[in-house]
Amino acid sequence: MNAQFHKVCNPLLPEAAAIFEYLKTLNQARWYTNRGTLQASLEERLSMLFGADHNVVVATASGSAALEASILATAGTATPDKPYAFLPSYTFAATALAAERCGYTPYFLDVDPETWSLDPDMIARHPKIINAGVIIVVAPYGRMPDMVALETLYKKTGVAVVVDAAAAFEQVVAAPGCISATIPVCLSFHATKTFSTGEGGAVLWSDQIGRESIVQATNFGFLNSRECRSAGFNGKMSEYSAAVGLAMLDMLEERRQEYFEVSHTYRQAFASSGANSSGQFFASPEISSAYALILARDSIVAAELCVELQVSQFGWRRWYESGLHNMAHFLDCPRDAMAVTTDLGDRLIGLPMAHDLSEDKIAQIVDVVAATCETEVAFVAEQAGGR
Ligand SMILES: *Cc1c(COP(=O)(O)O)cnc(C)c1O
Repeated sequence: MNAQFHKVCNPLLPEAAAIFEYLKTLNQARWYTNRGTLQASLEERLSMLFGADHNVVVATASGSAALEASILATAGTATPDKPYAFLPSYTFAATALAAERCGYTPYFLDVDPETWSLDPDMIARHPKIINAGVIIVVAPYGRMPDMVALETLYKKTGVAVVVDAAAAFEQVVAAPGCISATIPVCLSFHATKTFSTGEGGAVLWSDQIGRESIVQATNFGFLNSRECRSAGFNGKMSEYSAAVGLAMLDMLEERRQEYFEVSHTYRQAFASSGANSSGQFFASPEISSAYALILARDSIVAAELCVELQVSQFGWRRWYESGLHNMAHFLDCPRDAMAVTTDLGDRLIGLPMAHDLSEDKIAQIVDVVAATCETEVAFVAEQAGGR
């Protein structure tokens, strides 16, 4: 019997009946978007989840909209003497596209090998910092950067900082102290993220004026009038998306428990397989529950692993590919040397992850990883012996 193919990512959003409970109210109010009651309720419940005693959330149409609005609200559009947006190459394409849409030229920086994120000290010393209008720091796979260090970077350089924390929902829930008054933190509620509204996102910002400027940027530059007073676009969350988010919040505790168990099972399987010597495994709570990652010993093992997973009907993904600087659209962008990005792009492989991934499947995936790594070790030993 040929096994069914297991996707690297297999999300499941709330049942239609659960969403319907919220949708029912819409035609009574006859209000479908533009900060309706469901959006207000979603922002309030998220703020509570983040441990805040006042609202710290502005919901948006997507994570990309949250990023664009945050860039406009902190840095505005690009100017001739500050044309660059500093950002990592090791990220999803949306990070650089958001900067471009605000008029910036992406300037790609290499990441730190331990955090997989930008090093604030390196940015502060960078020779091109005087030409940067905004710095976008990414929380790769949900791993939050050191927000205190970023606040210091902002104070020291005067260059606006925005955090692309698209996948970091759980990390913010676990450590809500990361919500800052000076640096907006952007989440994505895309279907592939652990908390989802289908499409959607949010800016977390404890400064009220800051949040108002996000509302303004995502509503055509309007605030309390119909006069456009700043750069903006339509980045609003609709009430239909908010309904999905509210239904998802209702099931969040159960979902978190399911993810916890899957990550735990993965860790245990790796611990007893002996594969640890040839690869390093990452799962929640260190990263988002949406991912299970293996950092292979070298690029040859990584390439072999991808082949073996495919043969065994398991999906895999290099989530951030080999960096944005290698993608057709960004080839001409200025950049630094990319040693760490290239290495991570080669070696960091996404394994299948889902809240309902069975113990059986996890055991099979870990077997494939262990067998691949062992074969490589044996091969190297053979070569060494033959000399
Ligand atoms: C998911 C993701 C985004 C994009 O968010 P959308 O909601 O799809 O616009 C941006 N950056 C990173 C790092 C992501 O993982």
